[in-house]
Amino acid sequence: MIGTGSSPVTPGYEDLPIWTSAHLFPMGSTPPKSVMIIGGGFIGGEIGSFFAGVGVQTSLFVRGDGLLAREDADIEEVFTAEFTKNIETHFNSELADLTHDGSEFTATFTVDGEPQSFTAERVVFAIGRKPNTADLDLEQTGLAANARGFLPVDENLETAVEGIYALGDVNGRYMLQHAATYEASYLQKRLIDGAQGPIDDLKIPHAVFSRPEIAGVGATEQELKDAGTPYVAVFGNWAASARARSARVDYQRTKLLVSSADYSILGCHFIGPEASTMLHQILMLIHLNNDVRELTTTVYIHPALNEVVLAAARLSSLPRGCPRCREVGRGEGC
Ligand SMILES: Cc1cc2nc3c(=O)[nH]c(=O)nc-3n(C[C@H](O)[C@H](O)[C@H](O)COP(=O)(O)OP(=O)(O)OC[C@H]3O[C@@H](n4cnc5c(N)ncnc54)[C@H](O)[C@@H]3O)c2cc1C
Repeated sequence: MIGTGSSPVTPGYEDLPIWTSAHLFPMGSTPPKSVMIIGGGFIGGEIGSFFAGVGVQTSLFVRGDGLLAREDADIEEVFTAEFTKNIETHFNSELADLTHDGSEFTATFTVDGEPQSFTAERVVFAIGRKPNTADLDLEQTGLAANARGFLPVDENLETAVEGIYALGDVNGRYMLQHAATYEASYLQKRLIDGAQGPIDDLKIPHAVFSRPEIAGVGATEQELKDAGTPYVAVFGNWAASARARSARVDYQRTKLLVSSADYSILGCHFIGPEASTMLHQILMLIHLNNDVRELTTTVYIHPALNEVVLAAARLSSLPRGCPRCREVGRGEGC
């Protein structure tokens, strides 16, 4: 089993005192006065939220025109609107040059074809991670990494070479700590205890511990559309919850994607305070019998935050084909 993890990608400039996430845990110094973060994925979002939260003048630069590209589009839209209220964010910005004068960085970006320069005390690159496969002498095994260095696996986590398995970041599937642990547990059951069957990916959730916080599990709406899976989608706010309103923000949302055929949850996404904690009631349901109608018969503590799930669960539990279902359902299943 290969589980050698991953390392931050840097785009050159290693001769300058640049930072990646590897320099921040632990940081080993007081926070800088200003920081430029390059990259709009979850690591850039989390690091940006941290620095802005402790009073560092923070700016974030993204090559494309959006943040968190792998999130459900509705969640991503809300995230981008909120995140950019707190952090100066520059889209469509490609780094062209970086210099350091001994105390400050000057970064020149190409923005819509035009050069623009920005300065800050520190620069953090959060532009992706590369798998630790370069020093494994893979050629001794007949196993080849793909173009990005990852070791592709099948639904049993077996690589192209029989008997060699890859888990965690190095297989490039999820790149999350709990996914690596889940994959290790799956391989233990399969290879040592003799269990059969493919790994069940619907059980692998994720969260982004930024401001705002996101958590999700399963498919996005776009993925269901692409796969031609009939679904009902509910995208609801948390305005009915006094507890949610007490957080003094109004962007919180639930996105629930439920099978038109059997009421199983195909995807669930939250954005709002405690999103990662909230997701666990959905994870438990998926793990047990995965029928969204169970959420509507549970008695919730009022006014606990979890109550916000009830409204979305009720809408996605309506009998299929009824007029109300047609009204709320955005999927082709209604
Ligand atoms: C800034 C940041 C924030 C993150 N936040 C989260 C989060 O909130 N939640 C989450 O779930 N995940 C998070 N992650 C991702 C998480 O850290 C990884 O997905 C997880 O550590 C992957 O586990 P792994 O076992 O594959 O690799 P690692 O934990 O990297 O372990 C790989 C091990 O293999 C060893 N190794 C490497 N090469 C060799 C070799 N040739 N021979 C022998 N040993 C070798 C390494 O020394 C290391 O001990 C974050 C990552 C970063 C960078």
